Amino acid sequence: MKHTKATQLAEERIHRLFELAEQELGKKPERSKRYVHIARELSKKHRVRMSREMKKKFCKKCGAYLKKGKNSETKTIGTLTIVKCIECGFERKTGDKPKQ
Ligand SMILES: [Zn+2]
Repeated sequence: MKHTKATQLAEERIHRLFELAEQELGKKPERSKRYVHIARELSKKHRVRMSREMKKKFCKKCGAYLKKGKNSETKTIGTLTIVKCIECGFERKTGDKPKQ
């Protein structure tokens, strides 16, 4: 896919929104969620792929920005990383699945 100016701009905005979401997490959790929501909408609209690292930063289910030791827990089982959202209890598994 060609990287257009619009996509690049959307990417930058997504990064910025994640930064804001992190900053607001302790003070205004609702606003923090809103920033994540806007970032996800932008990603869909402009078909900007979020990196693995970015996907780990929010809860797919409730949309909360996740911060380790604050509202998320991380467990590692073998090569699998499980990020749990304390707010809604959703667990996201990332990494390579164990070989069968
Ligand atoms: Zn959640």
